[in-house]
Amino acid sequence: MLTNQEQLRYGRQIMLDNVGEQGQIALQQATVLIVGVGGLGCPVSLYLASAGIGKIILCDGDDIEITNLQRQILFTEQDIGNNKAETAAEKLNAINHHIDIEVIDEMFDHELAQYYMPLVDIVIDCTDSMKARYLLNSASIQHQTPLIIGAATGLDGQTLVIDPEQRSACYQCVFPKADETPVDNCQTLGILGPVLSIVGGMQALSAIKWLVNMPVAINQLSLFDGLNQQWQHFKVTPQADCPACKKD
Ligand SMILES: [Zn+2]
Repeated sequence: MLTNQEQLRYGRQIMLDNVGEQGQIALQQATVLIVGVGGLGCPVSLYLASAGIGKIILCDGDDIEITNLQRQILFTEQDIGNNKAETAAEKLNAINHHIDIEVIDEMFDHELAQYYMPLVDIVIDCTDSMKARYLLNSASIQHQTPLIIGAATGLDGQTLVIDPEQRSACYQCVFPKADETPVDNCQTLGILGPVLSIVGGMQALSAIKWLVNMPVAINQLSLFDGLNQQWQHFKVTPQADCPACKKD
């Protein structure tokens, strides 16, 4: 049962047939891990905290720099020099103090993946590192934890939802690992801030829909072209010989 305050606070989403009280309760019982609290992690965590996700785990080892303020919309000039995950947790708590926020102030690695993946309902990739993305991908398959991937550079973005239980196409099925993993990211290619909110908004939307049991497209790579302001969706298929997700 929701309290009167919760009914009031979340009323605009509870009134949706697809959410309702049951959906709101599901959100409040959910635990979501957000890896990376930068350009994507800021909008994603804002929407999830506002929606009343019961527990949000934020993972980022970076400190806030002046170059981040152009797009990382949770942070202010006063936050420069402070850890991103810790700072974001304070801001999100100010928006919604009913939710539980856990901070991991270090970079996501294999050890953290092994510990946290079994504890969460869903993982959201908001990193800007291919290495971290492949690690999240394999950990999500190992622990059967759904993963929502997002990436953006320049004017372009992409999202992919992976559900290992349904054996959907994984990140490595779609983007086979090269020997030389490219290092292109915002630092080398630049980025326009709103593109991150569009991609992050798609990730947050997928997460909320997933948690309230609405259908979420898997086996679909969605690409956003900011120049023409268009989304394109491509059907992708699990690869039988994919080193990350093939059945032994
Ligand atoms: Zn695969």
